[in-house]
Amino acid sequence: MKCDYCEKVFDDDDNLVLNYFDHIQRYHYDVLSDNEKIMHDIRKKMIKSKTDYQVDKNIKGDSDLIFNAKNSDT
Ligand SMILES: [Zn+2]
Repeated sequence: MKCDYCEKVFDDDDNLVLNYFDHIQRYHYDVLSDNEKIMHDIRKKMIKSKTDYQVDKNIKGDSDLIFNAKNSDT
């Protein structure tokens, strides 16, 4: 996938969305229109909350494992 604002090309992998947003934020945020800035900020929040959810899920998954292991001992 190619950047809309320059010639940079992004690898089409799992981190594509994050990498692209990070790139826009660093290099092209100034040239976004007001609407695009709003959209960018909304998407950024969504990406962040999704990442937080994954981390939260991983932590809860781990504590479930510990709980089950303790339970099977008794
Ligand atoms: Zn670019």
